[in-house]
Amino acid sequence: MIQEKIRERGLKQTSAREKILELFLEKRAWTAGQINQRLCGVNRATVFRNLRTFEKNEVIQAIHSHESETAYELAGRTHHAHCVCPKCKTICCVPCPLKNIKKNHNLEFFNLCELCNK
Ligand SMILES: [Zn+2]
Ligand SMILES: [Zn+2]
Ligand SMILES: [Zn+2]
Repeated sequence: MIQEKIRERGLKQTSAREKILELFLEKRAWTAGQINQRLCGVNRATVFRNLRTFEKNEVIQAIHSHESETAYELAGRTHHAHCVCPKCKTICCVPCPLKNIKKNHNLEFFNLCELCNK
């Protein structure tokens, strides 16, 4: 499935790209730093380069966040909100509670994630 996504865009399939895309199947957003931390064998420059390539090919998209580092998530997700953990900075995708607001909006709130809340 991930391989398909890469092939669909005519991108060369590398193990780094596969590993990065696999992370994006989780319901959360990732910064380059977080990806770098998770994938010890992939260096930072490679992560940055691939994130840019993925963004250009609309495989992933940048999300609006108040964190200083840009966070990305899989492109084309339906509208939802983000919950940022103040401790580990994990950004989770959560249902948007503002059902009656039709105007374009981005909602971000802060709450300890499951792991930090233990
Ligand atoms: Zn956390
Ligand atoms: Zn999201
Ligand atoms: Zn909403």
